[in-house]
Amino acid sequence: MAVPTALIQSLQTATGFQQEAFEAVHASGEQIVSIRLNPAKPIELSHLPISDNVKWCENGRYLAERPFFTFDPFLHAGAYYVQEASSMFLWQAIQQTVPNTAGKKVLDLCAAPGGKSTLLASYFTDGLLVANEVIKNRANILVENCSKWGGGNLIVTNNDPSHFQSLPNFFDLLMIDAPCSGSGLFRKDPDAIQEWSEANVALCCQRQQRILADALPCLAEEGILIYSTCSYSQEEDESICDWLLEEMDMESIPLKIEKDWGIVETHATVHGAAGYRFYPDQIKGEGFFLACFRKKTGSFSTKIKLKALPATSKAQVQILQSHILLPENLSFFDQNESIRAIETKWLSHLSSLASHLYIKKAGVEIASLKGKDLVPAHELALSGWILGGYPSIELDLEHALLYLKRKEYRVEGQNGWNLMRYGGQPLGWAKILPNRINNYYPAEWRILKE
Ligand code: SAM
Repeated sequence: MAVPTALIQSLQTATGFQQEAFEAVHASGEQIVSIRLNPAKPIELSHLPISDNVKWCENGRYLAERPFFTFDPFLHAGAYYVQEASSMFLWQAIQQTVPNTAGKKVLDLCAAPGGKSTLLASYFTDGLLVANEVIKNRANILVENCSKWGGGNLIVTNNDPSHFQSLPNFFDLLMIDAPCSGSGLFRKDPDAIQEWSEANVALCCQRQQRILADALPCLAEEGILIYSTCSYSQEEDESICDWLLEEMDMESIPLKIEKDWGIVETHATVHGAAGYRFYPDQIKGEGFFLACFRKKTGSFSTKIKLKALPATSKAQVQILQSHILLPENLSFFDQNESIRAIETKWLSHLSSLASHLYIKKAGVEIASLKGKDLVPAHELALSGWILGGYPSIELDLEHALLYLKRKEYRVEGQNGWNLMRYGGQPLGWAKILPNRINNYYPAEWRILKE
């Protein structure tokens, strides 16, 4: 299907737009496949058809063809994330605008399904990341992807952007990957062409302004805003940048880009804010736009309420620690009959967030106590926090897939709880009984395809 004429017309004034090459690349139907590796879960990559590195993101790799990702246990272990290459430019944006990550508080406001959140989590390993999604069922997939990615510094919330106004000046970095008219994904998903209209671009532009205006008070003075869309329309890109400088007291931060990357630097017409355009005929990736800003002044500040989280009893923490060896400096708290943990340095921040937001995932779920039996949690298996305690079983591909499908299988192992691994990476828990194996892989995440 051809790119809409009205879009082509509107792009005549867009910086770097080359109509013929743009139309040809859309007509070609060429599909680019890329993944981003999880540096916290290193794996042997020889089974993937890796062809090249993504130039602007050190963990990004192109694949020569699309494998059956569903049948790769490493995907389920969170060892990589299938992500469109242009959007990995966020890696450059954060490296250049936030070189010191320690103690930084980051909000990814429009986060589902979690591509940008998992990238941010890999960079801010000593920071705190809040990944938020307003739409309830999309928040579930965000929890799943963030849990698989692992790491203990991730909180998932399910709130409207306006709810973050209760946390004035709280975050050091605000990522807004805004809902948009989606023209940048036309090559990947030609069905999206039918949904595109000029009226929808105008609607998206208004919604983007509303989201930004609602969320900006939670960004600290001197804090960084990263705004991105997968739309080519200037109304959703450069015009929003102009509006941020004109109305929202932000200043533009230009980024350094290499010439051979093929990324187009653009400047908004009125105030000249710098932005970065990705055209699929000029880079190996899909359509994308990103711009960075600094907030010039703080917002009016009220005291942020703290809701104390119910600390897990000492006796229960002792039971826990007699079974699992975990990192030091964790604080344990109870939530809905399970024990969760977060690094102690983030506990008061989590309390502030819990006072104002609906939290879907707070730190890492560790276990629940059923009588005297300690049931280790799936999030714990994937967290990268297990330093010892339970035995592990290394599965081959066939058994790993049976485990992930929750089908019957037999393996040798010690009776009791075992951590099931593939290629060294934890997949989840199983309990070996004398005559059967109980599979504790979450039913809602199991592989359904045959
Ligand atoms: N950042 C995600 C990633 O990299 O995987 C993609 C985000 S997608 C471009 C935009 C997200 O904004 C969607 O998950 C959508 O549900 C959410 N959204 C839709 N309307 C919204 C609104 N009014 N306020 C905030 N978020 C909204």
